[in-house]
Amino acid sequence: MDTDVIVVGAGPTGLMLACELALAGVRTRVFERRAEPQQDSRALTLHPRTLELMDLRGLAPRFLRLGRTLPGWHFAALDTPLDFAALDSRHAHTLFLAQARTEELLAERAHELGVEIHRGHALTALRADEDVVEAEVRGPDGAPRTLRAAYLVGCDGGRSFVRRAAGIDFPGTDETLTGVLGDFAAVAADPVALAAARDAGVLVVPLEGSLTRFVYVDPERMRTPSSVPVTLEEFRAALVRICGSDLGVDGPRWLSRFGNATRLAAAYRSGRVLLAGDAAHIHFPAAGQGLNTGLQDAMNLGWKLAAEVRGWAPPRLLDTYHAERHPVGRSVTENTEVQTLLAELPLVARYRRPAAALRGLFEDLLRIPEVNRRIAGQVSALGTAYPATDPDADPPAGRRMPDIGLSAAGSEATRVYELLHRGGFVLLRLAGVRDPHVEPYESPARHPYLSCVSARAAEDHPDLDGVREVLIRPDGHVAWATRSDDAGRRAIDRATALTAWMSPPAA
Ligand SMILES: Cc1cc2nc3c(=O)[nH]c(=O)nc-3n(C[C@H](O)[C@H](O)[C@H](O)COP(=O)(O)OP(=O)(O)OC[C@H]3O[C@@H](n4cnc5c(N)ncnc54)[C@H](O)[C@@H]3O)c2cc1C
Repeated sequence: MDTDVIVVGAGPTGLMLACELALAGVRTRVFERRAEPQQDSRALTLHPRTLELMDLRGLAPRFLRLGRTLPGWHFAALDTPLDFAALDSRHAHTLFLAQARTEELLAERAHELGVEIHRGHALTALRADEDVVEAEVRGPDGAPRTLRAAYLVGCDGGRSFVRRAAGIDFPGTDETLTGVLGDFAAVAADPVALAAARDAGVLVVPLEGSLTRFVYVDPERMRTPSSVPVTLEEFRAALVRICGSDLGVDGPRWLSRFGNATRLAAAYRSGRVLLAGDAAHIHFPAAGQGLNTGLQDAMNLGWKLAAEVRGWAPPRLLDTYHAERHPVGRSVTENTEVQTLLAELPLVARYRRPAAALRGLFEDLLRIPEVNRRIAGQVSALGTAYPATDPDADPPAGRRMPDIGLSAAGSEATRVYELLHRGGFVLLRLAGVRDPHVEPYESPARHPYLSCVSARAAEDHPDLDGVREVLIRPDGHVAWATRSDDAGRRAIDRATALTAWMSPPAA
């Protein structure tokens, strides 16, 4: 084998996955068609669960330093914001950070971990059988080169070559609506005109480097296919139509048309080939979820694929990637379709009146804290819980582990997420806030991907009420837990839980 895993695409998903694999000691090579990192940023946001993932790996400060935090977010551009601040997280906010910076930080981390990123190299053919994947890659000299690997992951975006080569269906709907974005170096409009543009539905966003981004859906040209290039003249004319002025935009750095084609891969895995990120799901960029979902896919897949390659994956562990992430992909694609409809209907003359009433109804619903929390949980991805693998599992199993404060003997960690920086499982024996006694583990962990920590909780958390011991997955979700009141229930014991999640390591 030339490497353990080939990752195709050095977008955010591919880079994040490469980091996770390398952290687990897997030889990983990334092949990226573009010769240079992408400088134009489609995405501008990292949502709370993504920030938690960075925190789980000790990377949050790098991201927080470069971005700007926003306390809430929106659903379908409704006036009532999603109240992220009400969510249970140390990162209960959105981070405004350009996609190019996110990719830069992930590439920096990948280099630190020794990942080889081959830019200017496109995957041009793919063959996979039960034992091996063979990838044909063409570099800048155009000559084909064949590499062999145990697995290959397509993180190669919405038009994924990998998905097609693996014969994975991509059912869904074609584009029916397009929006337009433009990043401009010069804007001659005053704040009053910009406020009027916002009121008329134009998104106006200051970017780094004195650029300003404008995004709109033009009712007169919203059926123009995304393949039709945007011109400066079209952009100005649309602004005049929508808000009465072209806002003096000039010096366009990037003009782009994007659509609402919505598709979800039928399978995230076909034998030794897997998909993640936009290669597995595409949708209208409503509420900024695509990049976030891709990073979360990568976090779910990385340790499972590493376990498979390193020989300690129990049977079917790798299949849980599809079982856990496909429903998330479905839910994201569905919520973006709902948002797109809520934004599109008022632009269609015959629906204008009922559409306004429908949006009003949604505004009312979002003012109900429980409703707001539920939708905020979905968009922030803090609400993502995976189905428990055993019907008798204790309730926190599958949910994300709360980042409670700790005082742990023999460890410098002061909170749970600091225990997960190395990317392995953590078995945490937990004493409650009012019950300081906790037995230390007698023998060190017998598995290289497991650490055992005894700690006293420094704060209460409803999900952990009565929990005595918890097995935390490398991606920060609870694998198993036992409670002090388990007597009388058919609780799963620790040894069974450990065997279910970790086979003995290969010699
Ligand atoms: C206007 C707009 C705004 C958006 N805003 C947000 C937002 O605010 N928040 C958010 O979360 N998401 C947002 N998104 C979505 C986000 O940009 C994507 O979901 C994200 O880029 C997906 O990352 P990825 O790594 O999966 O794929 P990509 O970013 O598409 O990366 C795929 C990479 O694979 C490479 N590649 C392709 N084919 C090959 C090949 N054959 N060989 C080698 N390399 C190959 C490509 O060159 C590319 O670098 C937005 C999208 C749009 C259009």
